[in-house]
Amino acid sequence: MEPVIGLEIHAQLKTKTKLFCPCPTEPGAEPNTNICEVCTGQPGALPRMNGKAIELAAKAGLALGSKVNGQSLFSRKNYFYPDLPNGFQTSQLDPPICQGGSMDIETPSGPKTIRLNRIHLEDDAGKCVHDEKRGRTLVDLNRAGTPLIEIVTEPDLNSSAEAMDFLKKLHALLVRLEVTEGRMEEGEFRCDVNVSLRPKGSPTMGVRGEIKNLNSFRYAGQAIEYEIKRQTALYAQGQPVLQETLHFDPARHETRPLRSKEEAHDYRYFPQPDLPPVRVSPELLERIGLSMPATAEETAQNLLGQGLREDVVTLLMDRKGAVGYLEEARAHYDQAKKIAALMAEFLLPACQKADVPIPDSPVTPRNLAKLAELMDKGVVGRRAAQELFPILFRTGAEPEALAREKGLTQISDKGALLALAAEVVASHPKEAENYRNGQEKVLSFLVGQLMRKSRGAADPKGAGEALIEALKA
Ligand code: ADP
Ligand code: MG
Ligand code: ZN
Repeated sequence: MEPVIGLEIHAQLKTKTKLFCPCPTEPGAEPNTNICEVCTGQPGALPRMNGKAIELAAKAGLALGSKVNGQSLFSRKNYFYPDLPNGFQTSQLDPPICQGGSMDIETPSGPKTIRLNRIHLEDDAGKCVHDEKRGRTLVDLNRAGTPLIEIVTEPDLNSSAEAMDFLKKLHALLVRLEVTEGRMEEGEFRCDVNVSLRPKGSPTMGVRGEIKNLNSFRYAGQAIEYEIKRQTALYAQGQPVLQETLHFDPARHETRPLRSKEEAHDYRYFPQPDLPPVRVSPELLERIGLSMPATAEETAQNLLGQGLREDVVTLLMDRKGAVGYLEEARAHYDQAKKIAALMAEFLLPACQKADVPIPDSPVTPRNLAKLAELMDKGVVGRRAAQELFPILFRTGAEPEALAREKGLTQISDKGALLALAAEVVASHPKEAENYRNGQEKVLSFLVGQLMRKSRGAADPKGAGEALIEALKA
């Protein structure tokens, strides 16, 4: 038998306020403080649409290759639950804001395209807090009315590994686009998994189980695995798989049917008369398209094209703000590869250790660019840079001034190096003779002598060049 899996993903949109009222969406407030007459469903209160939520949903659609509808509609999805004061969820049925689209995942047998069915806007419910000790349930409506998008895939996934890969990639994309904050422990990215089995290659699909509300990649994977096992056993026993809604218990690693009253299926969707159609004008769509950051692949290609090493590219792309920092530094000194190398060696570890976000580094992009430039010019050597960087990071000092103050500049002036080289050659006639007779190894000995003479202050590369020149004379 072959597993067939479809996902319904809920992502909380990164807006300051709720979908239909000005209440804040930030989690962590005292229960029932971020509420008003709209999000608590008071009679006669009218919703007002949050434009930012519409933009973010359209942005997700653009990034996923969906068709963004110029006009879409909100419906009321009716059901009763204590955390739903309106008695309905405001959601989109037909047409939703985005239709179609796809995302590719990697599989052991190569890339695979997972089609999307739709993306729609909806508001979140409140929370029931079960107080087991006192045997009561409390209702917190802070989350009620928080804007979500629901992304529905076609049943194109065939294993828990594929589903987890899809979820991770989608999460990374939406976080990078700042469509969602994506804090999974806060439930800002969660999914329902639909799982069925069918004989391999069969064109029809089996009956599915739907496991609700998984808020970690691992739980989603475990729930799918468990559901595949459960259904396999049912088929083996010749028993029917029922279409049901299940709950995953991470402690016991098992799925259980939800109590039937939580499983209200007859939603009686009808048009929400209090809201006008959602409009996305071509101008807005164009503006969103233009504001879209480059895709991860584009950024990586761009960096590789500038000569960065592959491991350095991976490192930069993994650290928030690193690519932006590099871009800014490059505006001061256009040597991406060299600046990136300094970032990899010094800046990223220092920021990590001090727990400082890269954009807030005390070594500004300008100053790191300057350090790269000083090194290229031979004014500051590698050893000196190692010594300088921690001080730069601590104090935010200007690199050239600091290097001079600490006496860590190198002699890289050609005239000065030539004078030193001439002295070295004059005091080592035998070695000079040997070099001229083809013993090129002698050069490194002579460079060593020059470095000694300058008490380590000469630029080694310049010293070698100066010696070759002096030996010709
Ligand atoms: P509902 O809204 O009732 O949950 P949908 O038809 O919108 O149902 O499907 C929801 C999700 O379930 C979609 O991701 C879809 O791909 C998936 N799905 C539908 N039928 C099956 C099936 N037989 N096996 C696995 N997944 C399925
Ligand atoms: Mg469903
Ligand atoms: Zn409100």
